[in-house]
Amino acid sequence: MKKGIHPKYYKNAKVHCACGNTFTVGSTKEYMEIEVCSKCHPLYTGKEKVIDTMGRVEKFKQRLAKKEKLLAKSKEKKKEKKEKKEKASKKE
Ligand SMILES: [Zn+2]
Repeated sequence: MKKGIHPKYYKNAKVHCACGNTFTVGSTKEYMEIEVCSKCHPLYTGKEKVIDTMGRVEKFKQRLAKKEKLLAKSKEKKKEKKEKKEKASKKE
């Protein structure tokens, strides 16, 4: 091998998976974080699984919760208006 042009090679580079599994590989990076590994990939586990990259599922759930809150609020307001109208009509 030519000297000075090859990156440092780590024989026991640590890999940490999102599922909690850790293992070692040979790599030029000493430490890596990954989302799937052979322990949790659906192909190996045979189970269906949502692979959540960048927390997209979490973001979607938050957005959904926000929308439901807004909907509940607007429904309450409509109820109040209706009740007021009914009261006013009773007075007449
Ligand atoms: Zn994994």
